Amino acid sequence: MSSRIQLLSPRLANQIAAGEVVERPASVVKELLENSIDAGAMRLEIDVEQAGIKLIRIRDDGAGIEKDDLSLALSRHATSKIYELEDLEAVNSLGFRGEALASISSVSRLTLTSRREGSDQAWQVQTQGRDMVAELAPAAHPQGTTVEMRDLFFNTPARRKFLKTENTEFKHLEEVVKRLALSRFDVAFTLKHNSRVIHQLRPADSQVEAERRVASVCGPAFIEQSLRVDVNAEASGLRLSGWIGLPTFSRSQADLQYFFVNGRMIRDKIVTHAVRQAYADVLYHGRHPAYVLYLDLDPALVDVNVHPTKHEVRFRESRLVHDFIFRSIHRVIGDVRPDNTSVPAA
Ligand code: ADP
Ligand code: MG
Repeated sequence: MSSRIQLLSPRLANQIAAGEVVERPASVVKELLENSIDAGAMRLEIDVEQAGIKLIRIRDDGAGIEKDDLSLALSRHATSKIYELEDLEAVNSLGFRGEALASISSVSRLTLTSRREGSDQAWQVQTQGRDMVAELAPAAHPQGTTVEMRDLFFNTPARRKFLKTENTEFKHLEEVVKRLALSRFDVAFTLKHNSRVIHQLRPADSQVEAERRVASVCGPAFIEQSLRVDVNAEASGLRLSGWIGLPTFSRSQADLQYFFVNGRMIRDKIVTHAVRQAYADVLYHGRHPAYVLYLDLDPALVDVNVHPTKHEVRFRESRLVHDFIFRSIHRVIGDVRPDNTSVPAA
């Protein structure tokens, strides 16, 4: 074995990085949808075959990518979203590491087709997991971008072995779409699996339509058996809104829990704890509350740059956030709590 130092080839470097970003088809869909949303897309069409292992095609009507930027978009650490360190402090795009497309293209066959806003011609690049040399060719496409990914992990068989059954992989993928659909009511989503329409969600611009979307994503029973939350803390600038399931709608699993911080779905111990505590005296042991909640706060008070998949956040003032969530939910549940004397018994 040689002990000389060598630079990794771009492909190998990307494949190693891909291990962090691209675990399964669902992670590809997440990254691609986030890119489309960051590009201002209002309509997203997601087509997958074999739970996304064979094909993931995402078409958006966003701003598109400049011809000269198409190949660059596939390179590592290439991003249009932050320019300097200070931008990280207040980042409000979903992506910013410039890693996703490079990672995905290193472990699949990728075609990127795009027409930039104001341009009269669309362009296309294709890669085959080779050393990232992308050929540029003219193409037909309306304004926006289509990313087509085929044969995930075709060149990394060890990785492919870790994929679960088609059923399980599709569940994960659908979950990603649900989360994003709950984070952007103004965006239309269509999800097709093996040519069958699974979700068709129109833009929702009223409370009624928003609840209709929640019903089709979380099931009609949730919205029928939930309470509306909308609490503003003027002093701290915190706002909590959304829906929480009635104690009687508790679940045996923590499978209907969506929490968004500034529009980004997160999992966080402090949040989970605050919600649990608010339900503590109304839920049986081993039962889990259901909720779709949105916390909005000054972006400077929350750090999202903790992990590449960005499910984690770090609150600057976690005590304040915890207490605010606890108090807000506790109060809403209090209105229906059986021992609440302020509400006359029916
Ligand atoms: P990041 O999202 O972290 O910037 P990506 O590798 O996901 O990194 O994407 C690289 C760049 O490609 C983005 O910064 C953006 O400029 C461009 N891009 C990717 N997808 C799209 C899209 N659907 N529409 C417009 N631009 C896109
Ligand atoms: Mg991205």
